[in-house]
Amino acid sequence: MRPMTAQTLKIDHARYVLTLDAQRRIIQDGAVLIENGRIARVGKAAELASASADRVIDGRHMVVTPGFVNGHMHISYAHAVRGIFPDDVGSPLPQVFKLQMAMTEEEEYHTTLLGLVELVKNGTVCFVDPGSTKYPDACLQAYEDAGIRVILGECVTDREAPFPLPRYPAAEAIDKTSAFLKRWNGRLNGRLRAWVMPFSAETCSADLLKSLKRLADEHRTFLTLHFNSGVKARADYQEHGAGSPTAYLDSLGLLGPNVCLAHVLGIDDIEIDLMARAGSTAAMCPVTAAKGARGAGQLGRLPELVAKGVKVALGCDSPNNSNHLDILRALNMAAIQYKDARQDMKLIPAETALELATLTGAHALGVGDEIGSLDVGKKADLLLFDTQRPEWQALFNPVNNLVYNADGRSLHTVIIDGRVVVDAYKQSFVDEPRLYAKVQEIGESLLARTGVSHPRSRWPMV
Ligand SMILES: [Zn+2]
Repeated sequence: MRPMTAQTLKIDHARYVLTLDAQRRIIQDGAVLIENGRIARVGKAAELASASADRVIDGRHMVVTPGFVNGHMHISYAHAVRGIFPDDVGSPLPQVFKLQMAMTEEEEYHTTLLGLVELVKNGTVCFVDPGSTKYPDACLQAYEDAGIRVILGECVTDREAPFPLPRYPAAEAIDKTSAFLKRWNGRLNGRLRAWVMPFSAETCSADLLKSLKRLADEHRTFLTLHFNSGVKARADYQEHGAGSPTAYLDSLGLLGPNVCLAHVLGIDDIEIDLMARAGSTAAMCPVTAAKGARGAGQLGRLPELVAKGVKVALGCDSPNNSNHLDILRALNMAAIQYKDARQDMKLIPAETALELATLTGAHALGVGDEIGSLDVGKKADLLLFDTQRPEWQALFNPVNNLVYNADGRSLHTVIIDGRVVVDAYKQSFVDEPRLYAKVQEIGESLLARTGVSHPRSRWPMV
């Protein structure tokens, strides 16, 4: 089943349209006209009164925003075993990768489908899967059916890691990456993009990292990798002659406007300057950092990165990290965690938080010229939030209400590439109850096969 497509679509009399345009206009009683998958007009409903369309959506109770981008979102094994890790388990990474490696093609198709349902129903229109997907061929149909924009890559390493990751001799890692880019970049009418995805600086040799960056440049695409710094990391790198993890990347030519560093905890001011000067971008996962007791408010430097003009996207990371796939909740966390940790209410205002999920985030992922704001000519990726709900009352400042009151549950309609993917709270590409049962089954089988086992609860389950 394909999402419903109308050649022309009009959202009429929207209560508010948050355009994220150059002036950041918030249009009251607004209208948006979509033609052939692109935004044709945006303005006051009265100005667009004469514009007719194949389908008109009544926006009287709606707040309309650009679609959200999700800059770091592992989509594979975790949906099948979400919530299995107790809070006191420490780092579950060895088990995470064991489970990930054990996924079959059929299982990954189903867990991906469930991930996509959760993503689109919570407003993600474009996400980066940082190299989790093992079977893109099998998942292609799911991306197509969900209508979402997806950024994929082949996860590669050539060094020993403390957990099982795909490891190859450097030449093979380069060949695999090159083949992946050629095969996938631009598929699904441009909705699928392929990036270069070394797992991290620590699990790849300097030569491999340099070759991979060259490949990203040649293909005019992006490179992303897991990246953190901090006092200990800086000391370790200094022992090997680099001032910091960021200086190390810089020395290899690994920073640049087509490099998106993921997580980015613990960087100091010098490292922020290096990133800003090179134009590198970042994808930060505020809920993962907070839940993982990473000291996000201090070690995350989101306010400083934003102040230096570094483009930052937010991510939900994984169903066993954040553990939700609701970017609005990540945005809420980003807006409140720095205020609290640093006792400064001025940090990351609601408007800045919303920019991270829309225009700024889209630029961080290299798609800012296509999506991220409601400007004429851009691809029609829009969200309609239903204000006829208690959490939206009373409504004076729609940005504050969106960031501080609402979550994905009030998302009424999702439009991607001009296609209505979620229509009045319902998607039509998969039978959800059947899929839920299937994924539960997959989880049980996966745990039995891998021997991964944890007490189900700290409380007796009778
Ligand atoms: Zn990751």
